[in-house]
Amino acid sequence: MAELDKTQRDVGVPGDWTYASAPESRDIVHIEDRYGYFVGGKWLEPSETYETIAPRDEEPLAAIGQATAEDVGRAVAAARGAYADGWSALPGSERAKYLFRIARLLQERSREFAVLESLNGGKPIKESRDVDIPLAAAHFFYYAGWADKLEYAFPNRRPRPVGVAGQIIPWNFPLLMLAWKVAPALACGNTVILKPAETTPLTALLFCDVLRQAELPPGVVNIVTGDGRTGAAIVESEDVDKIAFTGSTEVGKEIQRRLAGSGKRLTLELGGKAANIVFDDAALDQAVEGIVNGIYFNQGHVCCAGSRLFVQESIYEPLVAKLERRLTTLRVGDPLDKNTDVGAINSAAQLEKIQELVASGKEEGAEIFQPPCVLPEKGYWFAPTVFTNVAQSYRIAQEEIFGPVLSVLTFRTPEEALEKANNTPYGLSAGVWTEKGSRILWMAQRLRAGVVWANTYNRFDPGSPFGGYKESGFGREGGRHGLEPYLRFDE
Ligand code: NDP
Repeated sequence: MAELDKTQRDVGVPGDWTYASAPESRDIVHIEDRYGYFVGGKWLEPSETYETIAPRDEEPLAAIGQATAEDVGRAVAAARGAYADGWSALPGSERAKYLFRIARLLQERSREFAVLESLNGGKPIKESRDVDIPLAAAHFFYYAGWADKLEYAFPNRRPRPVGVAGQIIPWNFPLLMLAWKVAPALACGNTVILKPAETTPLTALLFCDVLRQAELPPGVVNIVTGDGRTGAAIVESEDVDKIAFTGSTEVGKEIQRRLAGSGKRLTLELGGKAANIVFDDAALDQAVEGIVNGIYFNQGHVCCAGSRLFVQESIYEPLVAKLERRLTTLRVGDPLDKNTDVGAINSAAQLEKIQELVASGKEEGAEIFQPPCVLPEKGYWFAPTVFTNVAQSYRIAQEEIFGPVLSVLTFRTPEEALEKANNTPYGLSAGVWTEKGSRILWMAQRLRAGVVWANTYNRFDPGSPFGGYKESGFGREGGRHGLEPYLRFDE
């Protein structure tokens, strides 16, 4: 051994194989000290502000406007004006040009957006760089293609825009959720007022500069910032024709109650507690990668996260052993480091929620596994976690944790897997791992979930509709289906 050490020293072979840090430079991003609201193509000065921070170390980044009902009213008026003043009557081929331009500009400025997204939201740079920003651009490209083909998408139905769309988005995929909402709305000839989440406003505010570069007519897209009160003001605004909301089931229900009887259109994309089901004939190493991607991608802040793992009993032990070993190789740390797999938790409030649910799991009798990892002292962090010995009734098997926490359960037969998987108030997504195509189809037909992935997980494409059943919401985003909520079909 001593000789080997000596040889290693002589030939310069490193004794320590840990990754060196590979931080992405943040110099490409310019953050203003203070932001107002983007209304009618201009910046309005806010009367009140709050501070947005970087969750990795709680560094203050900028002062953000807290929009009041009056500010929302101004933005809605600007959207209404732009709608009446030509945007809704513009030929689809002209609208498409703006969408193409926005898509191209997002691609050109992708590094800037990726760095800002990771800084303000805490997600690993490799995810914002390789997933969020390319997919956001892809959504604009995709819906640009539909803008002049609506008559072909809905033959004999005379598709017309709905009017002014109020859009409220969450903090887990800030720019991507903006793209999911804004691209189809504009393609169909609507105008928009959008509110990003309180904790992650910066990429939506940078997007306003893309709109300026694309020379989008003033008022077609208006962005107001603030907390839930601003969201509520959008919902209650008289002159908004449609609300599109992504976020918690609780707030979704509240919005649905408020809109009842108002005649306003509504789509809700809410929470989930997805089942990822592994049969004994699955390729285990591949399944382990899918499980890891399903729950630790974006720190588990994913509405369709595979947070309930169902394993066929005969492979339970080898699968859990492989999974736990894989967890020890996940690198938790600085979101701006290109080697990081699991970044920072988005906010103190979300961290507290995760901690509370994890404590309940331990109390109820589940067994916890966390790989050894050193978490940074400042900021909001939570180690990747696996719970085994979980009963269906435990809170960690029932409630959306929205963090890097997996609950493992078992089954014996496909019927049992199905029954357990569907035993949830949610119905957004599911995963099935097996080598048998017939079993995939059998399961997919019976799983009550909007999306079912087979031998993969968390795959997204703008051409594929996404949305839920039951308490996961209603309406679809993406694909041709994603156009429908933004169209009316008057004869
Ligand atoms: P919310 O549902 O509160 O947030 C979603 C968006 O709605 C945000 O822009 C929020 O603003 C806004 N909002 C809040 N209250 C209202 C209201 N009364 N009327 C209109 N808009 C409102 O989710 P949270 O951020 O509070 O997260 C709580 C939990 O929700 C998470 O732990 C997670 O379980 C779940 N969640 C699910 C998401 C999903 O994609 N399915 C996404 C986000 C959260 P603000 O940011 O200022 O609060």
